[in-house]
Amino acid sequence: MENLSNIGVIKDILARHNFTFSKALGQNFLVNPSVCPRIAEMGNAKAGFGIIEIGTGIGVLTNELARRADKVVAVEIDERLIPVLEETLGEYDNVKIINADVMKLDLHKLIREEFNGLDVAVCANLPYYITSPILMRLLEDRLPIRSVTVMVQKEAGTRLCARMGTRDMGAVTVAVNYFSEPRILFNVSRGSFMPAPNVDSCVVRFDIKDETPQCVKNEKFFFKTVRGAFSQRRKTLANSVSSAMNIEKSVVMQAIEKAGLASGVRPEQLSMEQLAGFSEALLSLSDN
Ligand code: SAM
Repeated sequence: MENLSNIGVIKDILARHNFTFSKALGQNFLVNPSVCPRIAEMGNAKAGFGIIEIGTGIGVLTNELARRADKVVAVEIDERLIPVLEETLGEYDNVKIINADVMKLDLHKLIREEFNGLDVAVCANLPYYITSPILMRLLEDRLPIRSVTVMVQKEAGTRLCARMGTRDMGAVTVAVNYFSEPRILFNVSRGSFMPAPNVDSCVVRFDIKDETPQCVKNEKFFFKTVRGAFSQRRKTLANSVSSAMNIEKSVVMQAIEKAGLASGVRPEQLSMEQLAGFSEALLSLSDN
C-alpha cells in the first residue's frame, strides 16, 4: 500500500472498516509520515534481522519494518484490526500477524519458531497503559534479542533512560540499566498521533547487554532491594528500605555502613555497584 503514511488514506481505511478507537487499548495511531521510517531504521529493521512488533494499529510501522527486515511478526490484541491489516499489509509475504495479547504469548517459543537463526529486535509504538509491564517482560525474560526500540510517553522515556545516580532515576531505571544500554533517540510531538494524546512522546532504544553486571550476586534479592529502595520517592535509603522491606532500621543502617555509604544517602544517588554492594550487605545481615 503506497500511501499508508498519508492521513487522508488512514482516515479512509478506518472509515471503510467502521473503526472506532479504543482508549482502553491505548490506541493512538501514528499519522506523521516521518516517524515510522526513523523508528524502523534506528531499530535494526534491516537485512539479516527479524522484527517483533507489538501493537500494529493499522500497520503504518509494520509497513516500514517489512520493507527493511527479512521478517516481521506483529502482535495485535484488537481483532477488529485484523481485516484492516489484511488490506494494508497484503503486499508483503514476510509479515505474520498474530491476534493476541503480547503479555500472554510465549515469546521464547515465538522467536524459536518464527525467526530461524535471524538476529531479532523488537520495534513498537507501545500502548501506554502497559509500557512498563511489556518492557520489563522483554528484558527480564532474557529473550535472545539484540535491541528493543519503542515509542513511550516522554516522561516514561526520561525515567527509563535516566543515568544511574541522578534525580530522574527510579526502580525501572535500575532494571533497564541492568539488562541493557538505554538511550533516547528522538522526541515525537502529540500532534503526530490520531487521536492526539495529552502528552508528548519519545522513541527510546535499549541495546541488550551480552552479560548482566557481575557486581550483582543474588539477582532476586537485588531487585527486591531496588523495589524497596525506590518505593518512596525522595526518602533516605534507610527509611525506604526499612519500611518497604519490613526490616529493622538499625539493620538497614548497618548494611549501609558495611557497603561504605553515607548514613543519609538517598537511593537516587547510587550507582549500580553501590546498590549491588548494599543489597549484598543487607542480605548478609537480615533474615531474608
Ligand atoms: N503501531 C500503531 C501505530 O503506531 O499507529 C499502533 C500503536 S497504538 C499506540 C498501540 C497498539 O497496541 C494498538 O493497536 C492496540 O490495539 C495494541 N495493543 C494494546 N494492548 C495490547 C496488547 N496487550 N497486546 C498486543 N497489542 C496491544
